[in-house]
Amino acid sequence: MSNEKEYLPKIAMSIVAHPDDQDFTVAGTLAKWAKAGCKVISVLITSGDSGSNDIAHDADHKPVLAKLREAEQQAANAVLGVSETVFLHYPDGELVASLALRKDLTRLIRMYKPDVVVTGDPSSWFYGNEYINHPDHRAAAEAATYAVFPSAGTRLIFTDLLEAGYEPHNVKRLYIHGAEKSDTWVDIRETIDIKIEALKKHVSQTDTHEVDKWMHEWAKEEGKEKGLEFAESYRVMILQKDEEEK
Ligand SMILES: [Zn+2]
Repeated sequence: MSNEKEYLPKIAMSIVAHPDDQDFTVAGTLAKWAKAGCKVISVLITSGDSGSNDIAHDADHKPVLAKLREAEQQAANAVLGVSETVFLHYPDGELVASLALRKDLTRLIRMYKPDVVVTGDPSSWFYGNEYINHPDHRAAAEAATYAVFPSAGTRLIFTDLLEAGYEPHNVKRLYIHGAEKSDTWVDIRETIDIKIEALKKHVSQTDTHEVDKWMHEWAKEEGKEKGLEFAESYRVMILQKDEEEK
């Protein structure tokens, strides 16, 4: 049924802008990999501290919201079987693909040494005719992509990291979700319920009544092309083939 024998990384790192981004998009894949013994690291660049339009909330509420959303993400990650969760505390809604962010992500990649990094598509500005991709999503995906290549594997980029003991690391594959053209489908039939359960932990953001319906519809849509009941689809950059492993 599937497109090829599914790849299983030993260590995977998910990099997203906001709490819940991962769980709306790639959580079925992460849960599947975690069940199979993969160590999954979940990186949140912001803590979603602008994620409320309640008129009762002003600037003072931002740290409260950040704390709440970090707790929700921790709960979701526990459901998925994520090994470690890292918050970088950049401000929500103001993210740019800066060198500082690229360096922070490079440090994490060199520290955790993932085989696979999973992120969004930095080239996706629009989805359909109703959704402008959030600039934080594009910024997160761009910084993650360029942290994977060339920064993590190139010894003399960010030499202060090298001096601090972070040796270069080559990521083998970059999984890009939300790309216009997918080339890889992960069958999530066995983990779609885990994905939905994780998503429901984002109580402050999600209408939990609608989640089941939407997630089933999205996963069906993503799997349709390959005849899969429920899937998450990716464009995958294969940066190092397994036979090149040392
Ligand atoms: Zn988001």
